[in-house]
Amino acid sequence: MPESVAIVGAGVAGAAAAIRLAERGMAVDLYEAVPQPRPIGAGLLLQPTGQRVLAAMGLLDEALALGTRVDRLFGDTPAGRAVLDMSYRRFQADAYGLGIQRGALMGLLWSRLQTLGVRWRCGMAVDGFTQDAGGVTVQLAGGATARHDALILANGSFSRLREGLRVPQQVRPFPWGAVWTVLPAPDGFPQIELRQRFRAASQMLGLMPVGRASHDDPARGINLFWSLPVAALDGWATRIGLAPLKRQMTDLFPDVAPLLAGLTEPSQLREARYADVWMQRWHDGRVLAIGDCAHGMSPQLGQGANMALIDAHELSAELGSDAGRDWPAVFARYTRRRRAHLRFYGQASKGLTPMFQSHAVVAPWLRDRFFGWGGRLPYIHQQSIATLAGYKTGWLWGRLKL
Ligand SMILES: Cc1cc2nc3c(=O)[nH]c(=O)nc-3n(C[C@H](O)[C@H](O)[C@H](O)COP(=O)(O)OP(=O)(O)OC[C@H]3O[C@@H](n4cnc5c(N)ncnc54)[C@H](O)[C@@H]3O)c2cc1C
Repeated sequence: MPESVAIVGAGVAGAAAAIRLAERGMAVDLYEAVPQPRPIGAGLLLQPTGQRVLAAMGLLDEALALGTRVDRLFGDTPAGRAVLDMSYRRFQADAYGLGIQRGALMGLLWSRLQTLGVRWRCGMAVDGFTQDAGGVTVQLAGGATARHDALILANGSFSRLREGLRVPQQVRPFPWGAVWTVLPAPDGFPQIELRQRFRAASQMLGLMPVGRASHDDPARGINLFWSLPVAALDGWATRIGLAPLKRQMTDLFPDVAPLLAGLTEPSQLREARYADVWMQRWHDGRVLAIGDCAHGMSPQLGQGANMALIDAHELSAELGSDAGRDWPAVFARYTRRRRAHLRFYGQASKGLTPMFQSHAVVAPWLRDRFFGWGGRLPYIHQQSIATLAGYKTGWLWGRLKL
């Protein structure tokens, strides 16, 4: 009998893990609360590390056909002071970021998991679980239960199921969030770089080319990101209004005006809230947390979906050496394998985010003075781009081997 694994959440982490486990011959049940998952969401930058995972799943070519290669990240202030200028090619000749619409990525993952026979149970929220020496019992909303050999929690930063793990953990909702959307790229709009404009840390606009939503859709999109404190995010459409919000954006970065012609309804903007999630370890017996549920962080480093893909890949690598029979041992090895990488990115995200999203004065002042200058030093540039590319496992040395 194949081992039976339940996964909660069909986001990037859950879908990728379902694919990797099904490829290893596991019987996978993927529980998703949303009755009819649709390819919604804005754009993601997938790093070379995440791209390697997509390649291992045989999905990179299709992802490249839908998305767009991003060669450079450039951010500056309204006064024209360069704050960030990072080029993937200076890190590695053939490296690039992959800008892709979240819906396009999810479409690829969802189609693959259906071909692998994953039982995709949409509209089935998992309310709780209990485990014993022989397996895990999952409690479904509505009262039904299901029995599995192992359970993977991939239900995002705000998971309540995570509290059922006997693991010290902390969840700190971040005081800033964002509105974001994908808009059709006007003719001639730059499509090769991620462009950011900052005013201190209280205003930030990000533009990123993300390619097409599907093979049938010829329109190429630009992801627009506008940072807002959570207090302003709640009810922003009535409290701020779309027209004043667009004015704030064009005041900060006038070049965005042609793109904003495509933003006509507040409902086009999706609200994003995030949380820093810390767990002492990611497993408890036969239950494992992955993705944002295990290590949610702010999106400033552009790593969340990337990490979710790596989690799935690394879990599958651990299974390979144990045929999946001793789940507590497999999950404990997974925790050891992921520790250095996840700890580094958790710390880097906590340290960097206030420089980009906060009411702080000194931190962004230092950022504006020293980031651009430091980035011109080859060593600092190399370290910064290795961080962005998702390779680092420590502040001074250590590189993720996938
Ligand atoms: C503004 C913004 C920009 C970002 N930019 C980038 C980027 O450029 N690059 C990058 O790599 N990452 C980026 N990220 C992060 C990335 O989007 C997330 O890290 C990633 O999507 C997390 O995936 P996940 O599968 O762990 O969780 P989620 O996507 O949150 O999926 C969780 C799933 O679980 C389901 N669920 C929840 N509770 C239950 C339950 N009880 N039972 C069943 N199902 C349940 C939900 O419906 C959902 O489908 C960004 C995030 C934001 C907000």
